[in-house]
Amino acid sequence: MDQKIWKDSELEHLGQCPICDSTERDHVCQVDDWYTGTPGIWDYYRCKGCGVFYIDPRPTPDSIGRLYENYFTHEPTPQRERRGIGKLALGLRNDYLNWKYGYRNTPTLKGGRWLMYMLPPWLRWEWDYAARHLPKPAPGRNRLLDVGCGNGEFLAAAQSAGWECVGVDFDLKAVEMARSQGIEAHLGALEAQGFKDGCFDAITLCHVIEHVHDPSELLRECSRLLRPNGLLWIATPNANSLVHRWFGANWLAFVPHHLILFNSTALQQRLESQGFKVKLQHSGAQVQAHWRASTARRIGLKGEAVHTDPFLQTKLGLAYQPLELLVALIPRIQGDVVLCATKVR
Ligand SMILES: [Zn+2]
Repeated sequence: MDQKIWKDSELEHLGQCPICDSTERDHVCQVDDWYTGTPGIWDYYRCKGCGVFYIDPRPTPDSIGRLYENYFTHEPTPQRERRGIGKLALGLRNDYLNWKYGYRNTPTLKGGRWLMYMLPPWLRWEWDYAARHLPKPAPGRNRLLDVGCGNGEFLAAAQSAGWECVGVDFDLKAVEMARSQGIEAHLGALEAQGFKDGCFDAITLCHVIEHVHDPSELLRECSRLLRPNGLLWIATPNANSLVHRWFGANWLAFVPHHLILFNSTALQQRLESQGFKVKLQHSGAQVQAHWRASTARRIGLKGEAVHTDPFLQTKLGLAYQPLELLVALIPRIQGDVVLCATKVR
C-alpha cells in the first residue's frame, strides 16, 4: 500500500479475515484501481480458514468515497437496433422471460419459450440470472427492494411483472434515472432509509456484498426488512471461479472497490448464521463476459474499455461453448456465486 497517497487515518488494518476472523492467510496479489484510476496499490489476501479474498489494509467507511468519485452506475445499457438473427434472438428471449417471469417485453417470437429448451441450457440460465430467478409475485406479496439499484433497469423489468419496486443507491444520477422510469428510488445507505421491519417480500443484492465493509451487518438489515419466508437473492464474484484460476491477478473482480470476494460455501455459512436458509444455488456462469473482461485486463486495457472494447465484443460465442459446458458441469467454478435464501428466523 502506498502510504503517501492514502493517509494512515484513511485506512483500516485488519490483520485477520473479516468473515471468519482467522489470521492464517496467503498473499494473493497487488492491484491498482484500473477501473476508475484512483491512486493507490492494494493487497489481496486469501483466508486459509474460509477461502475468501480480502483487501488489507483497506479504506475506512469514511474514506472509501474517494474510490467512488469517478465510479458510475447510472449509464443506461446501450440499445442496439436488431435485425435478422439478432431480432429473432431477442424475440426468443422475450417470449421466454414473459412466460417464465411475467415480464411484458416486446418484440416476442411465438413459441420462443419452447425453442429455448432445445438449445444449450446456459443460454436460458443467463436470462434467468438477469431476471434474478424471482418467481412471479403473488397478490399482496409483491414488495421488492433492490439494494444498489443503479439506473433501475432491473426494477423496471420486475415492475412490468407486477412487483412493487423500491431501489436504494449511493449514486444520485442513478437514483434520478431510476425515478424517471417510475421507480421509487432512495439515495444513500440502506440502514439510513428508515424502512419498517418486515416490509419487503423479496430483496436482491446484485454485485453489492463485495463492496461493503461488514457483510454480516448488511445481511442482518436485509433480514430485518424481510417478512418471514421472504426471499433474499445474492450474486457476487466467485473466488473459486475458473476465470480467476485462469487469469490470476488479471481476474476482472480484483479491483479495490471489492473489499471481500466470497466463494459459495463461505457466503452460504454467512447467510445461515444470520437466520437464512439457502434454498437454491443458481448458475451464474457469466463465462463470456468475465473471460472477455479479464482478457482485456491482461492486455493492459483500463476503465470502461475493459467492458466495451470493440475487438473483445465481437461475436465469439461459439468459441466459448466448450467453456460454458465445463462450467455447467462443475458449478463451484462458475463466474459468480448466485444464492437464493429465505428468512427463517
Ligand atoms: Zn476467513
